[in-house]
Amino acid sequence: MSPLVNLTLHGDVAVITLANPPVNALTEEVHQGIQTAIRAAGADPQVRAVVILGSGSTFCGGADLREIQQIIANERPRACLLPLAFLREIEDCPKPVVAAIHGTALGGGLELAMSAHYRVSAPSARLGQTEVKVGLIPGAGGTQLLPRLAGVAKAVEMCAFGEPISAQEALALGLVGRIVADDLLGGAVAFARAAIGKSIPRTRERDDKLRGTDPELFEAARERARKTRRGQQAPLAAIDAVEAATKLSFEVGCQRETELFDGCLRSAQSKAMIHAFFAERAVSKVPDVPAETQAFEIQRVAIVGAGTMGGGIAMTFANAGIPALLRDASQEALDRGMASIARNYAGSVKKGALSPEAMNQRLALITPRLTYVGFEKADLIIEAVFEDMAVKKAVFAQIDGIAKPSCVLASNTSTLDIDQMASATKRPEAVIGLHFFSPANVMRLLEIVRGQATSKEVIATSMALARRLGKVGVLARNCRGFIGSRMMEPYWREAEFLLEEGASVEEVNQALFDFGMAMGPLAMADLVGLDIAWRIRQVFREVAKPGVRQPRVIDLLYKMGRFGQKTGRGWSSYDAARKPSPDPETAALIEQAAREAGIERRRVSAREIVDRCVNALVIEGARLLEEGIALRASDIDVVYLTGFGFPVWRGGPMFYAENAGIPVTRSPMISA
Ligand code: NAD
Repeated sequence: MSPLVNLTLHGDVAVITLANPPVNALTEEVHQGIQTAIRAAGADPQVRAVVILGSGSTFCGGADLREIQQIIANERPRACLLPLAFLREIEDCPKPVVAAIHGTALGGGLELAMSAHYRVSAPSARLGQTEVKVGLIPGAGGTQLLPRLAGVAKAVEMCAFGEPISAQEALALGLVGRIVADDLLGGAVAFARAAIGKSIPRTRERDDKLRGTDPELFEAARERARKTRRGQQAPLAAIDAVEAATKLSFEVGCQRETELFDGCLRSAQSKAMIHAFFAERAVSKVPDVPAETQAFEIQRVAIVGAGTMGGGIAMTFANAGIPALLRDASQEALDRGMASIARNYAGSVKKGALSPEAMNQRLALITPRLTYVGFEKADLIIEAVFEDMAVKKAVFAQIDGIAKPSCVLASNTSTLDIDQMASATKRPEAVIGLHFFSPANVMRLLEIVRGQATSKEVIATSMALARRLGKVGVLARNCRGFIGSRMMEPYWREAEFLLEEGASVEEVNQALFDFGMAMGPLAMADLVGLDIAWRIRQVFREVAKPGVRQPRVIDLLYKMGRFGQKTGRGWSSYDAARKPSPDPETAALIEQAAREAGIERRRVSAREIVDRCVNALVIEGARLLEEGIALRASDIDVVYLTGFGFPVWRGGPMFYAENAGIPVTRSPMISA
């Protein structure tokens, strides 16, 4: 018997316990261990029923992604994956088999549970076919078993979109037979014993829920997948596989699933998405800040500046149950900020995403202030005032005089020098950048910027805080623009060069949208605000090499007050619903700028647009690595995946460059 799977006897019921912490991943050794145990239980005349259970905090989290990575890299045979035949062996066990689920049953874990004859569950358990999140589909019969147990519509939903469901929903669907409140093992053993002597329901033989399926359901799901999982192949493959369950026998349906699974397994997309999965987990490792570094406890925060960012940051803390003081310099600004917060929460209530009680609780955690009263009690103070060094230094000097000794002092700047701000205080070791992205209560990225003097404890506190807020904290060293904004600047600049050379605003946006970006670069600039984009540009111009040409149209738009969506015009024109349309005046300005620069305009292909803009990101990313601003290339990928709408199925800019063999050369427009 494998040490990762235990077999014990509870009277006449055999209990097979998975013991492969932390999530009982189904490695080759684990499924072989289960197989041996099932065979032994089947052959033992004393045993009349079987329970399969997970030890520790969960039933089973599914396949081991490291093993899948090795299979993709041809370092391990495909046969190591959970074999269909093995699960059929569980189904064919002549004694009733009950899966007892607590924690989660995900991916192969749910397939294992569905191969048992019955499922019972703890009330807090979650069940899901989550493979699409790493570019795969269920590969051990999940797409054929789930529609038979939960119905076709729910199976499509779960396999194509990957969201787990609660034990209560699983009970209502018939996916689990009973919820056991306290003693899961005891409840499962009793359930198994009650099944002895009854006819054994095999999932593959149950087809009542497959009948009468509305064929429109699949097309509707495909349409939703094309919209919400744009560019991804696994959701569509998952829908095909579930559809096959309604048309083919179980065995042939499983063969179809295997073909579709293998297509995904060998695709660049699963490789990229597994990379993204591990990249996100790697960010928390900081070589010189060991895991045991003491972090401060953050129980109260205070924020300076109740504008777009300050308000969103206050909501982020309130959402995590942490009280926040929110200060602004004028009553008017404060009222505007609080009104915007209230409007935002009311919107969530209207959509049904938040209960009115939860809204009131969260609002009660945010206290508006015109003064610094109460700031002396804060464990963390974050400034989110105007992007202006003099203003920021003045604020840092003030809060330095008020904050308690253990308080962390943070700036939400997107571009400015953290060390300069720290120099305005007598405790530079307490100063750090906490760069939230807009809207701060929604975006998952938190760029954490360490200054020269920032202490390890303050870094550890910030990394732990990111996790508590449900964010992905990526550490950067101090430089202009850190990782995110610094790479955005050459990306935007390249997009503007392409305009001067002959592409239209719409062509540039469309090419990068089709590449998979959430939106094109100029659409993004219009959303962020051309005033902000222009200001970022100024910061970089100060340090630009002499003789490096800069595109000028953004300066003209800025001077005309065309700040993008918020003013109705920027690169494009926007109607009241913020729908863009081409702006002829922008086109004329671009042509004039090109003429003045002596550029002969030409047709620019979508391929060239994508290559040059993505190259601009990659080149700057490479510089960030060289300078030690980013710790690892995968951290840069995480920044672009979680903060800038880079398509997850391309793995991030650095992964994309490495894998697509993009020639990482300088743009001809950037002189050496
Ligand atoms: P904003 O103009 O919306 O808000 C700034 C607020 O600070 C205003 O309400 C202003 O009244 C207040 N303020 C100015 N000086 C103050 C002082 N001394 N004391 C108290 N309040 C003061 O600006 P924003 O967009 O929220 O940006 C704030 C910071 O966040 C900037 O550093 C910006 O670069 C950064 N940031 C902005 C974004 C974005 O997309 N807007 C994203 C990330 C980071």
